[in-house]
Amino acid sequence: MNRWHFFLTLILLIAFTSVSIAQKITRKENKILENVSKNHGQAIEFLEKVVNMNSGTMNLDGVRQVGVEFDVALKELGFITRWSEMPHEMNRAGHLFAERKGSKGKKLLLIGHLDTVFEKDSPFQSYEDQDTIALGPGAEDMKGGDVIMLYALKALFEAGALDDTQIIIALHGDEEETGKPISISRKDIIDVGKRSDIALGFEGSTGFNDATVARRGSSGWKLEVTGRRAHSAGIFSDEDGAGAIFEMSRILHQFYEQLHAEEFLTFNPGVMVAGTFVDYDDANFKGTAYGKSNVIPQSAVVTGGLRFISEEQKEKARATMKEIITNNYPKTDAEIIFWDSYPSMPPTDGNTKVMEVLSQVSVDMNQGEVVAFDPLKRGAADISFVAQYTDGIDGLGAMGGGGHTPQEYVDLTTFETLTKRTALLIYRLTR
Ligand SMILES: [Zn+2]
Repeated sequence: MNRWHFFLTLILLIAFTSVSIAQKITRKENKILENVSKNHGQAIEFLEKVVNMNSGTMNLDGVRQVGVEFDVALKELGFITRWSEMPHEMNRAGHLFAERKGSKGKKLLLIGHLDTVFEKDSPFQSYEDQDTIALGPGAEDMKGGDVIMLYALKALFEAGALDDTQIIIALHGDEEETGKPISISRKDIIDVGKRSDIALGFEGSTGFNDATVARRGSSGWKLEVTGRRAHSAGIFSDEDGAGAIFEMSRILHQFYEQLHAEEFLTFNPGVMVAGTFVDYDDANFKGTAYGKSNVIPQSAVVTGGLRFISEEQKEKARATMKEIITNNYPKTDAEIIFWDSYPSMPPTDGNTKVMEVLSQVSVDMNQGEVVAFDPLKRGAADISFVAQYTDGIDGLGAMGGGGHTPQEYVDLTTFETLTKRTALLIYRLTR
């Protein structure tokens, strides 16, 4: 390289560097951030108002009333809204869907829920400002997240940045106690997921520097073992065999031995009833047993859960379990059934790319890079229902703690900043 080339390269480098600095936060983006700050007081008032409205999942009227608050607010931002009613026998409030039609950038699906775990008879009913935090039922899980979503959209709307964007909002009325069958209660979100590119979940934030790019799915299983009822003196004989309890022990031990070390897979036998006569009530998770030490037990029942990171992992685990239950001890037999609950949200390159956009927003706001949060530390969530159709990240909601307890709180000091990050994320994804 001659001297002339060297200087030219140097000039280009300087020019490039200054351009990238200048592009950190654009003038338009600054306007959006200013709008978030301007509306922050109003956002907290709105949060207080909706937290003070009881919306325990089974308080159908309460859930609908919270829905009306969001419905009115979203209409003001140019969204077309629709209340999706659930069948009467499901006994759930239904869901709020809102949509803006457009063709700019990525098509987004924003996910929240209106219900909380605190029913009408809970002693925990109201919002209480305690300076840097506010206590309240659903303050963090997840009315806080819903309000962050709403006020990010409001800031964008006021800056004219929602024009021609395709954004759908799904606010479920039954996230904490999902209406069954799931094929009906989650049909709407699957439908809108199919026509969206990216899903953003507003469940609680785990920190400025991580995002949820994967969530495990949940499912259930029930294992029933039978043995030959006989006098205990005959146990281990070819004629009377091992009995149902030894066989159940063998199976559970082998489940543990063969599957416990697999990454992201967990399974838990939650209840066991065993003896000569057993009576297990699936609906109430309760059972009774009768048995005597001198009788070989003829029945054993276990129900459990199984969490997984992908459909493939779930199917593989089920196959292993089915294999294990066939190698029966003498004169015993076993049957297992499985059922699905929440699908998983596997970690994908697409999800990582969305996280990288958030990471750039975070870096540009001088808050450092965002990395993937450990999926083992998060439960199942509604974003998983659209994971097979969209890229997405979750954990964009409020920071706080004590979820599902009377100590639930939202951190008020990070609320405005989280709203700003979401506003810029939505802005950049829809350009
Ligand atoms: Zn939640």
